[in-house]
Amino acid sequence: MNDQRVYNFSAGPSMLPLSALERASSEITNYRGSGMSVMEMSHRSKVFMDIFAETQQKLRQVLNVPDNYKILFLQTGASGQFSMVPLNLMGTTGKADYAVTGNFSSIAAKEAKKYGTVNIAADSSDRDHCYIPTRDQLRLDPQASYFHYCANNTIYGTEWDYVPETGDVPLVCDMSSNILSRPVDVSKYGLIYAGAQKNMAPAGLTVVIIREDLAGHAMACTPLIMDYQTMIDKDSMYNTPPCWCIYMLGLNLDWIQEQGGVEGMKKLRDIRSSMLYDTLDSSRLFRCHGEKGSRSGMNVTFRTGNEELDAKFVRGATEAGFVNLKGHRKVGGMRASIYNAMPVEGVEKLCDFIRAFDKNN
Ligand SMILES: *Cc1c(COP(=O)(O)O)cnc(C)c1O
Repeated sequence: MNDQRVYNFSAGPSMLPLSALERASSEITNYRGSGMSVMEMSHRSKVFMDIFAETQQKLRQVLNVPDNYKILFLQTGASGQFSMVPLNLMGTTGKADYAVTGNFSSIAAKEAKKYGTVNIAADSSDRDHCYIPTRDQLRLDPQASYFHYCANNTIYGTEWDYVPETGDVPLVCDMSSNILSRPVDVSKYGLIYAGAQKNMAPAGLTVVIIREDLAGHAMACTPLIMDYQTMIDKDSMYNTPPCWCIYMLGLNLDWIQEQGGVEGMKKLRDIRSSMLYDTLDSSRLFRCHGEKGSRSGMNVTFRTGNEELDAKFVRGATEAGFVNLKGHRKVGGMRASIYNAMPVEGVEKLCDFIRAFDKNN
């Protein structure tokens, strides 16, 4: 197929399924007889409106999104949702709960403080975000307008293995780095958002899944473009949506459906991550950052404890065709992001490389 492709462990933007890229490549100058590329189409044209509606429908099907939820395709970035969520949802009581378990949830909590009272319901910074708080560690405020958490901590390599129980307080979740990797009971959530560039599509698209009744209560100062109700009323076309990314999401969803949907993704994810963690745990040199029970199935963070040896590992891995393994500067060491599109074979070969490095150093 394509011999020159490397095993790309980038945290995002990251790998896409080869079949989706090849489909896009075959349609890039002339999309199905339209005589133009999807990049060149009016977002109001019939041909693009069909792509839009089909992609929305496929996502609804794959994630089993109930009818009383809207799916929005926005340009804000996941970071834009850090403001959009409080602007729209916090006005109800003026208060919100935030669980701080990593970099992005910490930024989200800081941003929300501009708009009301933030209760830090949990904070794992005491141990450098190596764990996820347990159910009884959550300090919930019954007055909160919502409870915000980040399902997978991309930088620290931890992931919630349970859904917080917050009673009538709506759950808001940043699923940027694990959406579509396993089944999710959407009905437990008030709002789910995700930047697409980790596990869905190229950078530029942000997906929001919102329970209808939560929209329409934005603070008066909310910019029109950040009001969920505006975007619901205009079906995400108040302004130009990220057309190309939406098209690519559709191609990715086709691939996911061919692999057995999110159940299929979950099986592959478990194979990849247990293989990698087992290899690291049985090595002499490597330690994982994420504590057992809190480890991410998507971003595996590890180190030797010796910066020079870490650098040698990253260099050697790059030469062997395993790229983008350097950890985020906040954690150091290495990070292998093993999203949906990473073939099992890529992780098998990385494990071989890790074992050989462990033996020879
Ligand atoms: C990457 C990431 C973000 C930031 O996404 P942008 O689209 O760059 O704003 C937020 N949250 C999580 C969990 C991420 O992985």
